[in-house]
Amino acid sequence: MSFMHSLLQIAPTLAEFFGIPLTSRVHPVEQILKVMYARNPQVVVLVVIDSLDFQVYLDFAVELEVLHELVERNEGLLFECDTVSNHTTPAIASILTGLRPESHKIRTSEDVGKSKINSILEILDEAGKSTAAVLETNGTKPLVGRVSYVFAVDDREDIVEYDALVKTHTISVLKKYEVRFVFSHLRAIDRFAHRGWDLRVAAKVTNENMREIARAVGERNGMLVICGDHEAHLKERKSAQQDKATVPLIVCCP
Ligand SMILES: [Zn+2]
Repeated sequence: MSFMHSLLQIAPTLAEFFGIPLTSRVHPVEQILKVMYARNPQVVVLVVIDSLDFQVYLDFAVELEVLHELVERNEGLLFECDTVSNHTTPAIASILTGLRPESHKIRTSEDVGKSKINSILEILDEAGKSTAAVLETNGTKPLVGRVSYVFAVDDREDIVEYDALVKTHTISVLKKYEVRFVFSHLRAIDRFAHRGWDLRVAAKVTNENMREIARAVGERNGMLVICGDHEAHLKERKSAQQDKATVPLIVCCP
């Protein structure tokens, strides 16, 4: 039986590399640690692509060519990961803490502010390794003052413009040499999926943003970690089999 990876392993893997303690008892991914110790990245950038599930990753391989190239050309690692929630907020909280939703109890953006559990962003920053977060304004509120660089992007109807701002802030913070870890959240695929719009368009937009982010990470000799948060909520898939959804996790040094 092959061992299935989980989104819960991302934070413990990063914590192990950076030598900081984490509440999670989930095991780090040894294959990722091996690459991290070999490459010793100056900065790690984690981009969560909302609603990028494994099926979307495969179905839109042409539009998402940058992601596939990062795996195939740059000795990148690709894992198929179990998800922990169908919703963005608890899923991202799990990615950043290594804890299941039942443990971190973060279900809505209001819970984010009340939670006493620190994410890897706060723990790293507290340990003197500067971190940065680029995400929707409500999600940034609990991080202000606890993370060195917080970029709040207001939600808006134009999700392409929204993602462009996330990309720009992500690239700009990479110019700060003390920053060791950056977390960013791209949302175009999720918005298009919910509205029933052409996912090829959102995939292409995401692809171009990731191309620029990957280039900036490469210039810093950094490591890029890309993952989805949950399965895409697609109308045409509702009748499909109820198999548990999986999301891709890509680790590479662009
Ligand atoms: Zn989501």
